[in-house]
Amino acid sequence: MLLSDPAGQLPGLGKARPGALKQLGIDTVADLIHHLPRRHEDRRSFRPILSLQDGESAIVRGEVLSIRTVRTRARRSFVQASVGDESGEISVRWWNMPWLTRSLAVGTQVVLYGRVRKGAITQPEFEVVSEDDSLHIGRIVPIYPLTKGITTPALRRAVHTALEGALHEVEDPLPPELDLPPLGEALRAMHFPPDRKALARAKRRLIFDEFFYFELAVGLQRLRAKRQKGVAQKWSREVDRRIRARIPFTLTGAQERAAKEILEDMRAATPMNRLLQGDVGSGKTAVALYAALVAIANRTQVAFLAPTEILARQHEATLTRALEGSDVTVELLVGGTPAAERRRILAELASGGIDLMVGTHALLEPSIEFERLGLVVVDEQHKFGVSQRAKLIRKGVRPDVLVMTATPIPRTLALTAYGDLDVSVIDEMPPGRKPCATRVLTHLQRQVAYDAVRAAAAQGLRGFVIYPLVSESEDVDADAAEEGYRELSRGFLRDLNVALVTGRTPAEERQRCMQAFRSGAIDVLVGTTVLEVGVDVPEATVIVVESAERFGLSTLHQLRGRVGRSGHASSCFLVSGNKTTDEARTRLRVMEETNDGFRIAEEDLRLRGPGEVFGTRQHGLPEFRVADLVRDFEVLRAARSEAFALLERDRTLKSWPLLRKEFQRRFRGRFDLYEVG
Ligand code: ADP
Ligand code: MG
Repeated sequence: MLLSDPAGQLPGLGKARPGALKQLGIDTVADLIHHLPRRHEDRRSFRPILSLQDGESAIVRGEVLSIRTVRTRARRSFVQASVGDESGEISVRWWNMPWLTRSLAVGTQVVLYGRVRKGAITQPEFEVVSEDDSLHIGRIVPIYPLTKGITTPALRRAVHTALEGALHEVEDPLPPELDLPPLGEALRAMHFPPDRKALARAKRRLIFDEFFYFELAVGLQRLRAKRQKGVAQKWSREVDRRIRARIPFTLTGAQERAAKEILEDMRAATPMNRLLQGDVGSGKTAVALYAALVAIANRTQVAFLAPTEILARQHEATLTRALEGSDVTVELLVGGTPAAERRRILAELASGGIDLMVGTHALLEPSIEFERLGLVVVDEQHKFGVSQRAKLIRKGVRPDVLVMTATPIPRTLALTAYGDLDVSVIDEMPPGRKPCATRVLTHLQRQVAYDAVRAAAAQGLRGFVIYPLVSESEDVDADAAEEGYRELSRGFLRDLNVALVTGRTPAEERQRCMQAFRSGAIDVLVGTTVLEVGVDVPEATVIVVESAERFGLSTLHQLRGRVGRSGHASSCFLVSGNKTTDEARTRLRVMEETNDGFRIAEEDLRLRGPGEVFGTRQHGLPEFRVADLVRDFEVLRAARSEAFALLERDRTLKSWPLLRKEFQRRFRGRFDLYEVG
């Protein structure tokens, strides 16, 4: 048998539905060997049915004692069976699988896998087994990703045959000096582990591989970026002095450090690719201003991107204020900029008349040209897709890029999604900040929160009330906020000035509200997460989040950062909805325990995956098959350092032809994902 033989010829697969193998990505014997199990079942011994505990996930072996279809009144039906062993029997139920009454006749031997609830198992995975089949019983067996038209036993048998016939042909692309368990051995043990220890060892090897190839890509991207020629900005004590005179406070130690790292990058001939991380309120804007003024002092232009119009306007206001009386020209371009104004801005931008261009996505349009773009600052990066970042970079020759994020990115993600960026961290708050006191409340307790809002307003301070995102569309979300606004302005907050800001609010109206809120004419802003990012009003000291369980922890942390941006004590109330589960409430309690954005982000990543942390599915991370970013962090670190070390020795990978070939196979056509950094 050859690795390149068609898999369809193997016993068991001949009868598979045509196209089914293709759907699984299996073409050849080699593909079959690399089709890894999604989990394993330990079938060396089975628990007696009688001993099963409520709530546990169990593997049961028994005989089908009875089976029939039951119709419900709602014109639905399910298959109801009873499965028994020597100790007793258990009731089993499958929804939406009417054909089971035929394939699981009374007397059939089955293995079931599912959760036991109240003496029954609903919708278990199952497999028909025969008494004496040593491939499917009496060992730790692999359970594979499947598709319609192929059964688990058939696939298992085919993989087994493939391993027997062709595993010895599998070559290990990773250099022997990495001192890993051989790939062939790992593959065999991954499919048919002799014991748990061997399985763990095999898994680690395959996890290592996944990370290793990925980090090779990241490493190559880094090297490539470093080789490009960008603008080498000049700097002098005089420039530094003039810039500092524009910043209305003394930078914290952490801000100084970040500014210094950025400055070093900007002065180098290679383009900067730096991620600036800092918790909400840590003062990233001042650092960005420093960088911007260095670029402008060198007669290059700066693009300053914000994810929302509110934020873009706020940045423009802050920057304009800081630059008052200087000859630096600042302009704002957003979706709502009138056409004539827009034409003027575009012309000035292209002729170099604008130094600092602040804006939203509007800056990404193809019609927008810079005369000499030297620096791109992207604020709150996680709201931007990777490809958007790329679009802007293409507008300059090789501008320096500073990406800022207030969602502290867990170490794991920093090494993967942003693996090609250098990282600066602001890990210190401006002086005089008090941590925000956070409380989780039930729906019935929510008056406590609104009492706090009223108390703040009585002292001339202000508050936010936030309603959840129901969908990606702000339009739909507005409903909950509108309803809440009506209820609050008649109820808990009736004697205050309350305004509503959602995605549905027209831009000018929104701006007027923000202005009134800033000046104190409005006490409370009710809204959706349009209010989330970056809104900076020092007098805002209370924030209430309704249906808080609907938000990711990172988003809640962001929201909480809207208050406590001054010396005033601040508080955050997370009101859980009526139907919140205990699990969800436990998750919210993390917010009571810590103000550490990094911990919160780790927790989010663990519970809800990378999409949650970035607030977008376009995070550009590959789907890892065996690896898990959180669980396998140590392996990731090892793989990264080995990958980088290898590139250090030979960045062409030509010293390791097999590795080079396998790397190209894995990343063919996907490289543009990393062209960005
Ligand atoms: P973020 O990192 O969330 O973008 P900002 O840059 O908006 O934070 O800064 C938060 C607030 O702290 C702003 O009001 C800003 O003026 C203030 N601030 C920033 N740095 C300092 C500092 N070194 N000393 C005093 N206040 C500061
Ligand atoms: Mg900010």
